[in-house]
Amino acid sequence: MIVVMEPKATESQIEKVSNYLQQHGFKINLNRGEVLTVIAAIGDKRMISTATVNSFEGVHEVKLIQEPYKLSGRQSHPEDTIIKFDNGVKIGGLEKPVLMVGPCSVEKEFEGLLEVATAAKEMGCEFLRGGAFKPRTSPYDFQGLEEKGLEYLKEASKRTGLLVVTEVMDTIDIPLLNKYADVLQVGARNMQNFKLLKALGHTKKPVMLKRGPAASIREFLLAAEHIMFNGNPNVILCERGIRTFDSDFTRNTLDLAAIPVLRKYSHLPVVVDPSHGTGKRYLIEPMGKAALVAGAHGLMYEVHHDPDHASSDGAQSLSIPQFKEITRNINKLIGRIDYDNKASHREEKLKEAKRK
Ligand code: PEP
Ligand code: MN
Repeated sequence: MIVVMEPKATESQIEKVSNYLQQHGFKINLNRGEVLTVIAAIGDKRMISTATVNSFEGVHEVKLIQEPYKLSGRQSHPEDTIIKFDNGVKIGGLEKPVLMVGPCSVEKEFEGLLEVATAAKEMGCEFLRGGAFKPRTSPYDFQGLEEKGLEYLKEASKRTGLLVVTEVMDTIDIPLLNKYADVLQVGARNMQNFKLLKALGHTKKPVMLKRGPAASIREFLLAAEHIMFNGNPNVILCERGIRTFDSDFTRNTLDLAAIPVLRKYSHLPVVVDPSHGTGKRYLIEPMGKAALVAGAHGLMYEVHHDPDHASSDGAQSLSIPQFKEITRNINKLIGRIDYDNKASHREEKLKEAKRK
């Protein structure tokens, strides 16, 4: 840490800061320039609060040299993290982007979910998403089917081979969710539920952490740090839009710049959710494509067998025909399966090269 003192800082002010740092185990190096005195302090930053140092009389600025996110940051882990699942699916690094699709909530008709899951499989998606425990703004809205919903997800997964992503809202539900889910999702509203993050650190299941609606990127990475610090390295970051001043046309502002920023400062996989990020189904395709071009390792979007009658988020959910069309376009963009030719673009390209 570097502490820059004010030009007019007195000797006793400099001494007070130095003593404070030394008392907390820091090694001090005083650099006295003609105008400024700079204190270089080496030690464990967790032992003190930088805000406290900043508040000392005579302190101009406190700068951290090391990233505060020691485990989620790239400094300590330059290689991309790739999360691997038992069925061979991988997320992260240079792996082909994955698609996670499904209804906002798992609802009481299993057939609807199965219809969506079957279409998802047909389109080459890897994950079925759906909330069984729903974080709803209003207590009068549908709260989720809980264990029944998890059973439905598992059954749809058995029939299609898709992996299951579903939200965990409470530490108490973790053992139950562990039985049904392949990825535990932490919703935006719980991004800073530190007790939940710590408890998820004690599991080995991949956790998809959604960015809080008002969270800075720093806070987002520090939330991931809580999970990793407690022992679980399998964290996927999910950008899902933040609150800004303009909500007339979109529910949130999808922060596309966050994708390359997260990829620069962190090695963790980044997934983008253009459904919650925009709140409008017509924006899923353009923003999903933009996210992939910006470097996302995957997309999550909502699909419902009957969006007009969905229990939650119908306006941002695609119908199955819309889903197929959009997913075909997305697959083409990223060179996934080309359904017109029933062969992957890469294979086609190889064949073409051989023909020449
Ligand atoms: C969800 O993905 O079901 C959800 C509730 O999203 P968010 O937490 O991003 O609002
Ligand atoms: Mn939703």
